[in-house]
Amino acid sequence: MHTTQSPDTTKLQPALTVFVLVFAACIFGIESRPIGFLAAFWPSNAVLLAVFVRYPALVSRLGWLMAMLGYLTADLITGSTLDKALLLNGANIAGVAVGYQLFKRLPPQVRTLERTSASVYLFAICLASAAATGVIGALASVLLFDREYFPALALWMSSEFTNYITLMPFILAFPADWRAYLRGIAQGITRRHAWYHTGRKLAVLILLLLACVGSILIGGPGAVIFPMPILLWLAMSFSLFTTLVVVLIYVLWCHLAIDLGLIAINVDMQALQNTVSMRLGVALLALGPIAIASMNFARNALLRQLEHVANHDALTHVLTRNAFMQRGSRLLSQKGEQVCVMMLDIDYFKSINDRFGHSGGDAALISFTRAITGDLRDSDLFGRMGGEEFAIVALIERQQDAVYLAERLRRRVEIESIAMPAGNHLQITVSIGMVTCIGGTEQNLDNLLKIADMAVYKAKNSGRNRVATPEISPLIYSDR
Ligand code: GH3
Ligand code: MG
Ligand code: MG
Repeated sequence: MHTTQSPDTTKLQPALTVFVLVFAACIFGIESRPIGFLAAFWPSNAVLLAVFVRYPALVSRLGWLMAMLGYLTADLITGSTLDKALLLNGANIAGVAVGYQLFKRLPPQVRTLERTSASVYLFAICLASAAATGVIGALASVLLFDREYFPALALWMSSEFTNYITLMPFILAFPADWRAYLRGIAQGITRRHAWYHTGRKLAVLILLLLACVGSILIGGPGAVIFPMPILLWLAMSFSLFTTLVVVLIYVLWCHLAIDLGLIAINVDMQALQNTVSMRLGVALLALGPIAIASMNFARNALLRQLEHVANHDALTHVLTRNAFMQRGSRLLSQKGEQVCVMMLDIDYFKSINDRFGHSGGDAALISFTRAITGDLRDSDLFGRMGGEEFAIVALIERQQDAVYLAERLRRRVEIESIAMPAGNHLQITVSIGMVTCIGGTEQNLDNLLKIADMAVYKAKNSGRNRVATPEISPLIYSDR
């Protein structure tokens, strides 16, 4: 049975999504106007821009058309006239279009706020979008409501900028896999010895709450800035997205608290200049923590990359000798665990280099490690000890499992068909020396590897492409 969708449904679905999104956001904006602090809150433009940036598959001529249709339908069914709806929504869509064109030119990591410079770009684009909407919207205000141009421009621009800078970060950095994000939070809390990190994070949130109480108790125009040190600390301690969620909640709280008079700012909010100033000030509060969270994300990504490069072999991407020895020793020291240690040496490797050149040898090494890695569990350690010699440390259930595992790996390599750079295919084999022991602090990985290496020679001498175990007990070699 064919399960492919017809071209009509594949185009219609994203277009309908855009329509519903814009329509719902507009209705929310219109219906929440009588609710004091939400009067200037118009989420549609920011939501549409952020969703278009995050999901470019939704952007097409039809997508833009459906967005316009969403704006118009919401206005018309709530009693607006067509000329008014066309003018005001022309202003809305102009801002989104300018923002989209600018975002499109940025690298993907900047769009998701994962680069150091992201907050600066975010600021500039929000300003440009707000200006585009403001210039046309103010003109509409002059024509439709007989307002003065510049005061109207200030109101339009400040409210648009506030909407953009408040809502966009949340959608731009929304985790692609939100289930994994929630799982990560749960694992962070339940991890062994996590109480210190969990406690520290809890302390940050409690302090933020206390700072908000401080804002209420002291009041005045500067009160909304009081929690800034905690917000900065928060950005250093929490993940990028969690920071954005808390910052969004804080900014919305500020607007609400000022509007309800919870924070007595003692500023005449009837004066246009004060409203615009306060609105912009609160919106811009968010940029500090966002900048830090983005920088933190970029730095951590770089550190992870560096750590990977430092611990993994450049050609085969398995562990380097150093990293293998460190992690292997740690695994080996687990008291009472059955551990198996293997040395693997590719057979007649020199002849592969001789026949296919050094690049042919490299291709064989890459295929070999890929085959072995694919057959190991994530918890097993696999390292390159040098040249065509590799080693494995793995926990096992029973002693005989080690032989099964080694035999399975040998067989896996034997059946692997390796594509050479010239196009022809090559079969290789490996000789494996294997030793098992019971984990504990007295075990020494260096010694166990020496014993496994001696078993490799045994495998080589008895014809290669086989698994061999040592004749001597590993305990004789331990440092006890
Ligand atoms: P045996 O069956 O006894 O193990 O024979 P062998 O040829 O595999 O062993 P030998 O130790 O004589 O040769 C190993 C060769 O591996 C020699 C060296 O040039 C080659 N070699 C080491 N590192 C690399 C590498 O990174 N890339 C390539 N292409 N060759 C390498
Ligand atoms: Mg060798
Ligand atoms: Mg060899």
